[in-house]
Amino acid sequence: MLDKASLDILRKALERLDEGFVALPAYEEKLQHPELAEQVLLNVAGRLQDNFPYFHPLYAGQMLKPPHPVARMAYALAMWINPNNHALDGGRASSAMEKEVVAAIAAMFGWDEHLGHLCGGGTMANMEALWVAGQLRPGLTVVASEQAHYTHKRISAVLGLRFEAIPCDRTGRMDMDALRRRLSQGGVGTVVATMGTTAIGSVDPLPDLLALRDEFGFRLHADAAYGGYFRLAGNLRPETSVAFARLTEADSIVVDPHKHGLQPYGCGCVLFRDPTVGRFYKHDSPYTYFSSAELHLGEISLECSRPGAAAVGLWATMQMLPLEPGGEFARMLEQGRVAALSLYSRLCEEPRFVTAFAPELDIVIWAPRAERASQASQLARQLFDAAAQRHLHLALATLPVDFFDHYRTGAARDQDTVTCLRSVLMKPEHAAWVEQIWAILEQATDTIAAQSFARS
Ligand SMILES: *Cc1c(COP(=O)(O)O)cnc(C)c1O
Repeated sequence: MLDKASLDILRKALERLDEGFVALPAYEEKLQHPELAEQVLLNVAGRLQDNFPYFHPLYAGQMLKPPHPVARMAYALAMWINPNNHALDGGRASSAMEKEVVAAIAAMFGWDEHLGHLCGGGTMANMEALWVAGQLRPGLTVVASEQAHYTHKRISAVLGLRFEAIPCDRTGRMDMDALRRRLSQGGVGTVVATMGTTAIGSVDPLPDLLALRDEFGFRLHADAAYGGYFRLAGNLRPETSVAFARLTEADSIVVDPHKHGLQPYGCGCVLFRDPTVGRFYKHDSPYTYFSSAELHLGEISLECSRPGAAAVGLWATMQMLPLEPGGEFARMLEQGRVAALSLYSRLCEEPRFVTAFAPELDIVIWAPRAERASQASQLARQLFDAAAQRHLHLALATLPVDFFDHYRTGAARDQDTVTCLRSVLMKPEHAAWVEQIWAILEQATDTIAAQSFARS
């Protein structure tokens, strides 16, 4: 089931790479102890079998998307060189590729000028964005919504910045009245807009946030680690499309190519609208930058050594799938959303479940219909196991009961959160598999005693 055809292409590309070094005096890089290496690698393959099948459409749980085969091949090819994108001395070709892909991502957000680079992931990228925000707004507080990624609170602590969470409305978006009240009290330097929350895919109302920025003058950072590429999707609700369109006006943006950008892990991206923030990164290294007066990426990045292979993988993928509205890459994102809406409409018709608001991107959440939120939580865990036994891998999330009308009030609300089922339908193949996913989910639900569910 795993793709092996790409190995032939990889071998050809490796031979081409080799040709670049023919002028060197003869020296052969040799695999030592090939029998032992084979034995070790086969053992590794055995160990790696202990994983959920992330590549398979029946893996519909967490935010895990397989890399594009071209990304995998290009990354592997680069490993024979192992470039380091810290300095041009360590990775000339891959640094050039990084500058090109980062400019293309900035262009996707409508920026023809920017400062930015790739990094380890969304955490690192957000850390740089908040670090710059803290330099520009010293002593002031960072706020993000209660549904923002937990990393913001922790990063703020690392950076010595005060952090506060702003409540969400019943669709998981930052509550604008609550934010306004907090802003009126003063002392807020930075507002983080989450453009696609990790738990449920809600998009903060960016136009309202921008209006508040005009009024209060804070710095606006957009955490689009998961959602950023949806800017290209043509099938979002109009309100969501407008929010993504106006990302152009954010001060900084984070997007994770290793989430929706089909990349292996270790590929985040941070972008600043004002290139002059590069001044905060300034450092003097006596031994790093000597081979070129051109910009070395280590001069504008907090991480020093970084895998050039990550840039190579992303560059190759973007050659195959340019970031164009209406293009194939956009269509792949749209398919995930089609899958989410299709699963959602089936869930709405099934009396044994209660649904929340309609998915804003490609994440669906639902809970079993029970007398109380605590019972629903227990049933969700049973259902999660029963589905996994049938090779359908879902996820669980503990979320505010306010997201579900049924558990929001009265006796059903015996706790403030409910553990519900969650499915991130981020593979384009999911659209064609919803029917099968649904059939398995129904079978799994049938194994749970009928009296466990409440009547609708
Ligand atoms: C995933 C995610 C992060 C963290 O990114 P990593 O790549 O896991 O470090 C931050 N914010 C949001 C909105 C995310 O979805």
